[in-house]
Amino acid sequence: LSFGQLGLASWLVNALKAMSITAPSEIQTKCIPEILAGKDVIGGAKTGSGKTAAFALPILQKLSEDPYGVFAVILTPTRELAFQIAEQFNVLGKTINLKDVVVVGGLDMMTQAIALSKRPHIIIATPGRLRDHINSSGDSMNLSKVKFLVLDEADRLLTETFAEDLGGILEVLPKKRQTLLFTATMTDAVLELAGPTDNSTKLLPF
Ligand code: AMP
Repeated sequence: LSFGQLGLASWLVNALKAMSITAPSEIQTKCIPEILAGKDVIGGAKTGSGKTAAFALPILQKLSEDPYGVFAVILTPTRELAFQIAEQFNVLGKTINLKDVVVVGGLDMMTQAIALSKRPHIIIATPGRLRDHINSSGDSMNLSKVKFLVLDEADRLLTETFAEDLGGILEVLPKKRQTLLFTATMTDAVLELAGPTDNSTKLLPF
């Protein structure tokens, strides 16, 4: 199967070609049609499986069709992962002038607040720092148009460490959205979160 056959537009297929990526990985073959069809997805995937592109590609395609407001929030447990995810979004989204912002701890709050105020399409964040911005911004940070929530390394995110911050973030996101979880291991907490929205969750085999 080719990326085009999975339902991706030619501008994305071309962006992949420029990166010398021509054949979809297993997780991409399984996820991309389901995400394009509007389903929630739980994908079993480790780093190196191509999981970032598995969610970035369909999100970019939907975003290009309806680029209004903050479109997607991507949560990940570490700063390093956040920057790696942003890098892939930037390369793939270059032709649509994608505006994304990385919101992680250890960097200047004010610089991030200014970037957030410039209406990014995509926020890539660690939970604690995003929560800080939500708390300090009042109503100015409008996440009411968010169509996608991605939990990258969901098994690490859905632990006591992040519980309070995740709860605070979920509170301000619309209930009507697609939720995409990627996890290396299936934990009870991941399974429990499987059905937070209206979309029937597609549980992809590990
Ligand atoms: P990830 O699993 O998302 O951390 O991706 C690992 C690396 O694989 C990244 O550098 C991607 O650019 C690359 N990659 C993603 N999808 C594919 C693919 N279908 N074929 C070859 N490389 C890929």
